[in-house]
Amino acid sequence: MTQQARYLNAAEHGLIRDEVDPNAIDVVERLEDAGFQAFLVGGCVRDLLLGAHPKDFDVATSATPEQVKRVFRRARLVGRRFRIAHVRYGRHIIEVSTFRKGQAEEEDERRLADSGLILRDNVWGTLDEDAFRRDFTINALYYDPQHEEIIDFVGGLDDLEHQRLRFIGDTETRLREDPVRLLRAVRFQAKLGFTLDPEIEAAVPELAEHLREIPPARLFDEVCKIFVSGRSEAAWNYLAPTRVRWALFPCCPPDDPLVTLAMRNTDRRIADDKPVTPGFLFAVVMWRDFQARFDAHAQNRKPAEARAAAAGETLAEQQQIIAIPRRFSQFIRDVWGLQHRLEALRPRTVAGLMEHERFRAAYDFLVLRGEAGEPVAEAADWWTRYQDADHDAREAMLDELRGSAEPEQKKGRRRKRRRRKKPEG
Ligand code: ATP
Ligand code: MG
Repeated sequence: MTQQARYLNAAEHGLIRDEVDPNAIDVVERLEDAGFQAFLVGGCVRDLLLGAHPKDFDVATSATPEQVKRVFRRARLVGRRFRIAHVRYGRHIIEVSTFRKGQAEEEDERRLADSGLILRDNVWGTLDEDAFRRDFTINALYYDPQHEEIIDFVGGLDDLEHQRLRFIGDTETRLREDPVRLLRAVRFQAKLGFTLDPEIEAAVPELAEHLREIPPARLFDEVCKIFVSGRSEAAWNYLAPTRVRWALFPCCPPDDPLVTLAMRNTDRRIADDKPVTPGFLFAVVMWRDFQARFDAHAQNRKPAEARAAAAGETLAEQQQIIAIPRRFSQFIRDVWGLQHRLEALRPRTVAGLMEHERFRAAYDFLVLRGEAGEPVAEAADWWTRYQDADHDAREAMLDELRGSAEPEQKKGRRRKRRRRKKPEG
């Protein structure tokens, strides 16, 4: 790609400086004062030009991470494969990355694995080299807040205008260098509502396998970004029937209505500014696998043991591909473990369940299962009514349960009862 760089002034590009995070401007100015080049780059410039609210602000600079650290003593250097500086302002972090060279040259071919995968990406470069090593043209626009100027080396402004998501350079090469870019492509097309480049689409079946080469911790980060993108349903609908879903979540069926419903629900919560946790969607995606394993173990174990064994197996299998940090895996176990207890509707356990730290998440999960056609809609409805009821009404509901319960359920009978209910749902 040899095209002339375009420089646009404020009147031409329309990006309003006041919409940029003042902390990001502070980082740029202080790096410039120290004699380095520095620009805003990536998603923040893209989103501001689209009139959207950037999620975070990234800075690109000629300063090496160590030099950044000297300018900002509170900066933290993170990452090995891709070393960057984090400059903290209260709860916000500005990511500062050093200009890098893109395509591996012969002398540093040791950076690449045989498959073309980039193993290390810490070869410093110039501003224009930095532009060409980025993933998509629309992610390679630089903004200089001092002169309020945008620099475009790769035709990103044009693609932004035509709503095109296009890799810089050869699609297949860029995907081989870093298969995670496939997930980024799907996330951006869902988030921005752009059409996916037919070349990317064509590469999906073959390149999907290469996702298995990616360290599980990095895949967790990228999958989380899709889950909390606010457009997870659209991204999943695209991924579910492809080899990508198989590569990431072999345990998840391609057409599970629970998954789509949960993603739609998560997207709606994000639109409403309600909190979401990616743990919930991981729990959803692995639910069928957990259930199948539970049913198998429940043949010859007590329910609690069967649950623990099933959860351990499902998570261990999935962890080989995507590393789910402990705080999330515990959340997932809790939400799964509470399902049977919520379904059972035993009067003596109601108060305790309501107090459980994960009650709310487990209840939401139960409701979605009911909506997805599992025979738990009645139980979910009971919990909905119970939460809405005042003290007296709650007592009446519990009395009713006591009245309808069998004298005192005998061990091993409960699962049978639940089984018999199935045809109703
Ligand atoms: P958002 O922050 O909204 O998710 P973003 O485009 O800012 O989107 P980041 O992950 O924050 O995404 O990355 C910042 C920038 O770094 C990108 O815009 C892109 O230019 C570059 N980049 C990130 N990941 C890659 C990658 N895997 N390959 C090449 N360039 C990348
Ligand atoms: Mg970003």
